[in-house]
Amino acid sequence: MEGKDINQIWSECLKIIEDNVTARNFNTWFKPIKPVKFKNKIITIQVPSQFFYEWLEEHYIDILKKTIKQVIGKEGKLEYNIVIDQYYNNKSYTTKGTSTLPSSNKGLLSNNPIKQPLRISQTQIRNPFIIPGLKKIQIDPQLNYNYSFKNFVEGDCNRLARSAGYAVSQNPGKTSFNPLMIYGNGGLGKTHLSNAIGIEAKKKFNDLIVLYVSAEKFQTQFVDAIMDNKKNDFVHFYQSIDLLIVDDVQFFAGKEKTQDVFFHIFNHLHQNNKQVVLTSDKPPIDLQGMEQRLLSRFKWGLSADLQIPDLETRMAILKRKLYKDGIDIPNDVIEHIAFSITTNVRELEGALISLLAQFSLNKKEIKMDLAKRMLDKFVKNTAKEISIDYIQKIVCDYFEIQVELMKSKTRKREIVQARQLAMYFSKILTKSSLAKIGMHCGNKDHATVLHACKTINNLIETDKQFRGYVNDLEKKLTIY
Ligand code: ADP
Ligand code: MG
Repeated sequence: MEGKDINQIWSECLKIIEDNVTARNFNTWFKPIKPVKFKNKIITIQVPSQFFYEWLEEHYIDILKKTIKQVIGKEGKLEYNIVIDQYYNNKSYTTKGTSTLPSSNKGLLSNNPIKQPLRISQTQIRNPFIIPGLKKIQIDPQLNYNYSFKNFVEGDCNRLARSAGYAVSQNPGKTSFNPLMIYGNGGLGKTHLSNAIGIEAKKKFNDLIVLYVSAEKFQTQFVDAIMDNKKNDFVHFYQSIDLLIVDDVQFFAGKEKTQDVFFHIFNHLHQNNKQVVLTSDKPPIDLQGMEQRLLSRFKWGLSADLQIPDLETRMAILKRKLYKDGIDIPNDVIEHIAFSITTNVRELEGALISLLAQFSLNKKEIKMDLAKRMLDKFVKNTAKEISIDYIQKIVCDYFEIQVELMKSKTRKREIVQARQLAMYFSKILTKSSLAKIGMHCGNKDHATVLHACKTINNLIETDKQFRGYVNDLEKKLTIY
């Protein structure tokens, strides 16, 4: 091992890591790392910023440690070398320096090797929430305190779910929203909102026994309980909860035994006016593989959905997040992110975080052109389809006009032209119907869109300068 050079060692590490994280995360978080030193089984890696270091420690420490132990051996250790940007007092020159920090022991694999390899991840899962030896059982609610109502931005997309959730938290078990079922696609805030309900209820009613559990964990615990002949304990444990939050119940699909036990627990809680909050990636009616009697229970209370947030809400979410982290970046960059990412909130946050990762401490330094380049790459890597919003934004940026103006009734020549170009690109680059495109481009009908496409095609053939615009825009919109 000592014979190998550091680059060799690090590239072995990278190979392992690459197999264990998504390509995008690999590019964002591991590619930029430079190995700088290897001595006494300590490998020192250089990372571009404090933020970057914190992110690695928070999210990738397990995989890093495992990898290093695998490549370097049991005594292998990790140290960071952080490039410090001493930029705080603006105007002065950047003085780059580095500081070295050992990796924390957060999330260190300190458990001894597990003897039953088949059940690796399931050690002590049976009633893991109970601290034994106490008379009145103490249960850790398993809530994520970042997922509060305060951090959950309200918009048209989530108003009903949010206010029903809030009502439930103020009056658990006593509203008609029992169960409260929150559903929506991935990354739209189900886990966040359901945690918020738990947090708020716990704040208001100190003694309330609240428990958040993913449906998957519930199932694993149940299987464990059966193996240990402790099914009754399991059922009793869940029946003692006052506010039970089960996340991602679609996971129960096809798992009859688990559904069965959940059905009994649910009935018990409901009869005793205990609150149940459920989340699912589909509305109850579309849940396949779920027993009818359970489905009908799900429908007893209220089902509320989460939708994709509109532009303003997306911006507010980004701002909220930056504010929380004490980071300041220019408004036009925020706007650009919100325009570009239209899939879901997780992607939106992912884009912001990737962007922050590229910059060192002073976030004011984030410049629009860099941000654009990075985001364009991000969007093209992730978005399945370019959105009409995005096309409009690119076209308007190109001609330096406001999107609002483009959507207005103005007949000024350059505005009309931008509008027609946006329609034209929407037609060729998205699967949207002519009617939908028209609606998005200032409430025009499908005939107007058709006419716009013809006009653009004509101009491409006859006007050289115009052809140049179209080529430029096409590159911006499609080059990956
Ligand atoms: P889901 O469980 O539906 O897949 P999550 O609750 O995990 O989605 O949300 C994904 C990310 O988006 C989380 O980081 C969450 O905090 C954030 N998020 C979702 N909706 C909002 C919102 N309305 N305001 C602030 N952050 C949100
Ligand atoms: Mg979730």
